[in-house]
Amino acid sequence: MLAETIFFCGLTTTSYFSCILSASYNNFGVNIAMAILKVLHFPDTRLRDKALPVYKIDSKVKEIAKNMLDVMYAENGIGLAATQVNIRQRIIVIDLSEEKNEPLILINPKITKLVGNQTMREGCLSVPDYYDIIERAEYIEYCYKTLDDEVINSNTDGLLAVCIQHEIDHLDGKLFIDYLSLLKRQRLKKKINKQEKLQQSIL
Ligand SMILES: [Zn+2]
Repeated sequence: MLAETIFFCGLTTTSYFSCILSASYNNFGVNIAMAILKVLHFPDTRLRDKALPVYKIDSKVKEIAKNMLDVMYAENGIGLAATQVNIRQRIIVIDLSEEKNEPLILINPKITKLVGNQTMREGCLSVPDYYDIIERAEYIEYCYKTLDDEVINSNTDGLLAVCIQHEIDHLDGKLFIDYLSLLKRQRLKKKINKQEKLQQSIL
């Protein structure tokens, strides 16, 4: 079966767009610029943290989701998990539309059924400039809560099924490169180490 090509992120991530300032409120009701949502990059160990369930969908959760969408759009991604911006809550955002105007926000997403398999070429905002073919379930049944605290049970296949599996993996501290062979992962680590050394020598 031929692998389809998909892009979870654009080929370039500019520092200009890589962080988004969000306004928030402290206990005294003072509007402060609190959080800088910056996408963590492999091998940052915080990408391995397991996210906790969201117990209450309040204004803060809504603000996090909005900021996550801003980051995802700014980085040309089609999906983002809270873990990737160092927030340990089970929140993911997805938008597969061409116009980038059909945001999907999933709170406490859970896959209840996996059927079949499919292969796609995946990438990730947390592993810039690396793409590889990954096998995942073709069809999934899943549930989640909306920002209005409504429980949704749904099912899907194809790209959305891959995207949801990829993002829920993030919430469990797992990256798509974990599915690769040891040899491929070692090569990738070498490449990243080389890039880091090169950047240090430029600085
Ligand atoms: Zn990812």
